Amino acid sequence: MFIDPHAHMISRTTDDYEAMAAAGIVAVIEPAFWLGQPRTFVGTYVDYLSTIIGFERFRAGQFGIRHYCTVGLNSKEANNEELAEGVMEWLPRFALKEGVVAIGEIGYDEQTPLEDKYFRAQLALAKELQLPVMVHTPHRDKKQGTSRSMDVCEEMGLDPSWVVIDHNNEETVKETLDRGFWAGFSIYPSTKMGTVRMVELLKQYGSERIIVDSACDWGISDPLAVAKTAMLALKNGIPAETVRKVTYANTLEVYGKSGQIQESDWLNPPEIDQRTLYEGNSILRGGREPRIEAPGARSRDSLIIE
Ligand SMILES: [Zn+2]
Repeated sequence: MFIDPHAHMISRTTDDYEAMAAAGIVAVIEPAFWLGQPRTFVGTYVDYLSTIIGFERFRAGQFGIRHYCTVGLNSKEANNEELAEGVMEWLPRFALKEGVVAIGEIGYDEQTPLEDKYFRAQLALAKELQLPVMVHTPHRDKKQGTSRSMDVCEEMGLDPSWVVIDHNNEETVKETLDRGFWAGFSIYPSTKMGTVRMVELLKQYGSERIIVDSACDWGISDPLAVAKTAMLALKNGIPAETVRKVTYANTLEVYGKSGQIQESDWLNPPEIDQRTLYEGNSILRGGREPRIEAPGARSRDSLIIE
């Protein structure tokens, strides 16, 4: 069983959901992020948050995958102050909804003063609501930006054991772990962190506070990256318990602090009935046979890596 703790599923297809379920992915966490182009109204942002909390959760369930999300104002859109102010007003309401496991993904992109302002404001919100945090680290000036993100978390009084620093690489991992934060790794198909490099990191650092994710979105990315990393790691002699922690148990431990994600969610799953409607809509199209399974059927049949 795997959890993909960073997957932008609204950008993915039903084929992806089927492949993920077949590969043993039992749950995904969908962080709030940007859409590839800036949103220009607060209302579109609010509708987006409603979608990841509502319809996408339903859609995942139709393929036997449990869906959770994080809510937040991403760093890119923090640079539009009018939009940012509006989103900040709405966030506390969304943060307390069912299935919301953290504030995120938040942090820096270009490291501007406005990004800093809203990063801090959202860290304060997470602390107040006692929610974990998912931090997106910048792709430019990564090392310095990652250090600075952790500095700010500490300055704002967050407990590092409640904060996942995501998109780590070989340059940032040691400091992230030394300072007591969780270290997320996004596995991309060809560039940045790939499965081979991740396996090398597991050999070096083991499993403590390390989390593997796919960060799949609308770009070139792989929704099976977590499962593929696990397979490659096992093939390379990484102990099964290490693999289990970094592709499953660690995610459950840190985001479980929210009280919104627990193993029983997928060990005793509700039935799958693709005839079900969400606000009048189903995932079925023209004459397709619906999949209907009794509660728990999938969990018994699926590929389980112990
Ligand atoms: Zn992301």
